[in-house]
Amino acid sequence: MQKIHIVSNRLPFSIKEEDEKTTLEASVGGLATGMKSIYKEYGGTWIGWPGVDSDSLSAEKESEIDALFKREKCASVHLNAEDIELFYEGFSNRTIWPLFHYFTQYADFNQEAWDKYVEVNQKFADAALETVEDGDAVWVHDYQLLLVPEMIKSKKPNVTVGFFLHIPFPSFEVFRILPWRKEIIQGMLGADLIGFHTYDYERHFFSCVRRLFGYEISFNQIHIDDRIIIADSFPMGIDYDKFVKSAQAVAMKGVSEKSELHQELDKYFLASPDRKLILSIDRLDYTKGIPNRLKAFARFLEKYPEFRQKVTLIMLAVPSRDQVDHYQLLKKEVDELVGQINGDYGSINYTPIWYFYRSMPFDNLIELYSSCDVALITPVRDGMNLVAKEYVASRINNTGVLILSEMAGVAKEMGEALIINPVDDENMADSIHQALTMPIEEQKSRTAFMKERIQRYDVFKWASEFIKSLKKAEAKQSDFLAKMITPSIEKTMLDKYNKAEKRAIFLDYDGTLTSFKKNPQDAMPNEELHNIIKNLTDNEKNIVTIISGRDRYTLEKWFSGHRVNLICEHGVWMKVVDGTWEMLSTVNNNWMPNVRPTMENFVDRTPGSFIEEKNYSLVWHFRKSEPEQGELRANELKDELNTHLSNHNLEIMEGNKVIEVKSGGINKGIAALQFLNNEPYDYIMALGDDWTDEFMFRELPEEAYTIKVGLTHTKASYKVESVAAVRALLSKM
Ligand code: UDP
Repeated sequence: MQKIHIVSNRLPFSIKEEDEKTTLEASVGGLATGMKSIYKEYGGTWIGWPGVDSDSLSAEKESEIDALFKREKCASVHLNAEDIELFYEGFSNRTIWPLFHYFTQYADFNQEAWDKYVEVNQKFADAALETVEDGDAVWVHDYQLLLVPEMIKSKKPNVTVGFFLHIPFPSFEVFRILPWRKEIIQGMLGADLIGFHTYDYERHFFSCVRRLFGYEISFNQIHIDDRIIIADSFPMGIDYDKFVKSAQAVAMKGVSEKSELHQELDKYFLASPDRKLILSIDRLDYTKGIPNRLKAFARFLEKYPEFRQKVTLIMLAVPSRDQVDHYQLLKKEVDELVGQINGDYGSINYTPIWYFYRSMPFDNLIELYSSCDVALITPVRDGMNLVAKEYVASRINNTGVLILSEMAGVAKEMGEALIINPVDDENMADSIHQALTMPIEEQKSRTAFMKERIQRYDVFKWASEFIKSLKKAEAKQSDFLAKMITPSIEKTMLDKYNKAEKRAIFLDYDGTLTSFKKNPQDAMPNEELHNIIKNLTDNEKNIVTIISGRDRYTLEKWFSGHRVNLICEHGVWMKVVDGTWEMLSTVNNNWMPNVRPTMENFVDRTPGSFIEEKNYSLVWHFRKSEPEQGELRANELKDELNTHLSNHNLEIMEGNKVIEVKSGGINKGIAALQFLNNEPYDYIMALGDDWTDEFMFRELPEEAYTIKVGLTHTKASYKVESVAAVRALLSKM
């Protein structure tokens, strides 16, 4: 990895015009802080939008701004008013944002906005492609740029691409609503590493990948042709030390140095020592659950009247997207609720809610964090929520209670908070009561636990962990490609073959020796294959075995006259040359009546698919079905079989356009080992193309030449591309 570049919607500086002079002001947000160390250390460029509408700038001004950014190692992507309207406010904030936060009723599906989203993503990708070189890495951020990873990867496959999503990834049932769902997933899959805040988002993503594309996923790796894509969770942290130091500085300030806000807060406590403050800070966004929070606070005052006059909620709502209808309506609702509660419970010298509709400077935030006894953070959905971490970090004496919504990503890390359901007013009201009456020792011990975690996994650790994984992803990619049989590997393989005295050769049939046909019965061996098998078996040092999922009658018919052994139905039956059929394991098929109706249901719903019944397995074939529907149904069938049949001793195997259910404890690996039976073979070779062959690759001794046909992930030690390559290799033996 040479350089690491960053691509995000906004650049980490904002433009400041003062006294007719243009300057750049560094952002202090979490992303800017975390990334600064990375792009400085790795000498990259930060690619993004400067934050101004390029239509409003003269050409001269634009180049002046570009030059200022260039000095900071930033490359500007220019967006005009239409881009901002359709790409940023439109598709990003009116479609993806609500949908990914489960506000499906707010999501707009507008073709024009989507087209612009694609076009602007391409602008970002093009700007990145101008900068990045082979061997570099790029880290792309967030929901505005979901298509950029693929746009970079397709042009520069030798660039390692990371992507981090800062918002939730929704469950398939919600994600599927998006008309461009496949394009979005494909865009993300251009990355080598995809990061989420929590494991839940990661698993939703896997489920969408599996359901929409049927790609093979093992643990946290997705296998697509010649690539491996890793997804993982990296909960974003804060600059912990900065919050601690600032909170300490605030605590040390003399009266005259205190801000106006701080002095007001002091006055509030002076009036009566048992007064308490509850803090609420967020952007005014419908995902933040502000109306529910206000209702719960009102319920608390109603249910616990002894706290009236004593407890005030400080609510800081930072203006956000205020041009969007839903945000304007929310503002109206919040204004009304605050007015109503203050009207119902307030008095001349008591205001239940202090409401600020603005943003506050950093020092004021610290003063609020330090002064408030409780933080009430109750989003209905939130990718992470950094305010929760900032509040805890700023509690220098460890007092204070955090009330936290279970719907915020941060709740996964903050188990010691009072976790609430953000739509349950009663639960929230009781939790406020619990927080206000919590013994100091308990507050301290809960806070200390949470602090330890957010100190350890701060924003710098978050960034460095992601980069560490990105490096691993890069290394994995080269390992993956390293398995191809090169001319020199082939030479060694053939030299060893020629020197060997007793060779065991296992050959899968479909997809290995011959290509797939729409109708399985049409895939009989042709003359070329007959010649290859004859040539191999004529050599008396070779013990050749066809090891297949096929039924025994078909293989016996097709290979009659050849001196090959046959292992059928993935290892249920075996027939050695000149022998008769024998069963390798005792199995039963009394489960079939239970499974058949499920499969039949899929046959009914998937035109072109059919069931093949073998002696000890049932196979659902969908090669003749409409491909996309077939894949989708296959994934559903697997899901259904996995759920319903987990307590039977059955195996569900996914072959090429088939799903096969068979009695457990039988597979090609066990069969191959049984066949070898400790005989002194000095050369073992096995070739196969699908999942069922992986058992064989796994079980055979390490020195065996195990060869996978196709480029996807495998346990085999080598790979070849195609049936033609298999035949070419075997012809040389
Ligand atoms: N924040 C701020 N000024 C304010 C209020 C909040 O800079 O007046 C910061 C706050 O410190 C936090 C961020 O805004 O770092 C909000 O991040 P969070 O993850 O909580 O929510 P988001 O707005 O990203 O959904």
